[in-house]
Amino acid sequence: MLVLVINSGSSSLKYQVRDVAAGTVLTEGLIEKIGVGNGGGGDGEMVGPRDHAEALEQVDAAIHQELGDLELGAVGHRVVHGGERFAEPVLVDNEITRAIERLNPLAPLHNPANVLGIRAITRKWPKMPQVAVFDTAFHRTLPEYAWRYAVPDELYTNHGIRRYGFHGTSNEYVARRSAALLDLPVEEFDAVIAHLGNGASVTAIRGGRSVDTSMGFTPLEGLVMGTRSGDLDPSILVFLGRAGWTPEDLDTMLNRESGLKGLAGHNDMRSVVEASEAGDERAAMALAVASHRLAKYIGGYHVAVGGAKALVFTAGIGENSKEFRAQVADRLGALGIELDGGLNAERSKEPRVISTPSSAIPVLVVPTDEERAIAEATAAVVSAGR
Ligand code: AMP
Repeated sequence: MLVLVINSGSSSLKYQVRDVAAGTVLTEGLIEKIGVGNGGGGDGEMVGPRDHAEALEQVDAAIHQELGDLELGAVGHRVVHGGERFAEPVLVDNEITRAIERLNPLAPLHNPANVLGIRAITRKWPKMPQVAVFDTAFHRTLPEYAWRYAVPDELYTNHGIRRYGFHGTSNEYVARRSAALLDLPVEEFDAVIAHLGNGASVTAIRGGRSVDTSMGFTPLEGLVMGTRSGDLDPSILVFLGRAGWTPEDLDTMLNRESGLKGLAGHNDMRSVVEASEAGDERAAMALAVASHRLAKYIGGYHVAVGGAKALVFTAGIGENSKEFRAQVADRLGALGIELDGGLNAERSKEPRVISTPSSAIPVLVVPTDEERAIAEATAAVVSAGR
C-alpha cells in the first residue's frame, strides 16, 4: 500500500509518500510559510500557500510531478495529542476529527494544525481513508501512580491535568526494533529508551509497554532540551509571576530560551559539544547539567522497570552524538554500564550495540523513523478496517 504521511504544523506541512510493504520512501517534502503573506506572491515577496488546503494542492502537484500517476491507499497523520481517549491509531471520520479538535486546549500549537490537515484531505479526497496516529497513545499504559500529579484531584477531573507523555510513536517503533536486535519478543522487553532530539524524553518500558515517561502534561517536563528547560521547581514560576512576569513571558522563557540555549547560548548539540571542546565553560556545564539529569532518570527508570535489559539511545542526539552518549554512560557506572569507545564512535544508520561484552546491560543505538511507523500503523488500520 502507498501511504501519504502528513505531519502538519501551524505554518508548515511535512510529507512523505511511502511504499509500506517495501519499507521505502518514494518522495518527500516540506511546505513552509503556510498562511504567511497573502498567498498571491505579489511584489516578489516570499510568501507561502494561503492555508492548509492550498498547501495540500502543492503537495499533490509535487507528488504527481515526481511520481506520475499513482494510487494512494491511505493518508496517515501524525497527531500530537490523543488525550485520554486514544490508545491506538484510528480511522478518521467526522466524529474522530471533532474529538481531536476538542483536545486543542491540551496542545494549542499542534492539534489545530493536525485538524486543518485532516479537513483539507477530507475536502480534496472525500473517499480517501485517513488514519490518525497519536504521539501520546503509547503512554496510555502508564499506571495511575505514574501519570498522577500530587495536586488536588479537581485539577485532573476539571482540567485534565495529568501526565500524558509524548514521542510515543518513536518509542513504540524503537522498542520493537531494539527487542528484535536483542532477539527478544517485545512482550519480554524491559528497557529505558532515551529519545534525544530537539525535544527530548526518556521512557521506562516494561514488557514492551510504557510504564513511565519524562514528558508530562506538555512536552516541557523532564530532560534538558534544545530550548526547553525540562524539570524545575514550580515555585520559580510563582516567584516570577509575583515579580510581574506574564504567562506569555513564562511560556517563552521556558519553551524557547531555556535548555541548552539558556545554559550555553546554542540550542544545537553539535555547537554545544564543539564549544565545550574549544574550552567554553558554559557549554561544558550545559552538557554536564543535561547528562546528569538524564542519568538520574535512567537510574530511576531502571528501578521502575524492575531491572532494564537494555538502555537505548535514539533521535538526532541519541543517534549521532558519541560525546553526549559517553558523558551519560560515564555517570552510569553504578549500574555497571560500560561503553565500548570504538563502537560508540562508529557512524552508522543501523541499529547497533555500543557497549562492551562485560557491560551489565547492553547499550544500543537504534535510529527512529516516525514516518515509517506512521505509514505502517496506517496500513495496518486500513487493512483491518478499524
Ligand atoms: P532531531 O530533533 O531528532 O532532529 O534532533 C536534533 C538534534 O540532534 C540537534 O540538537 C542536533 O544538534 C543533534 N544532532 C544531529 N546530528 C548530530 C551530530 N552529528 N552530532 C551531534 N548532534 C547531532
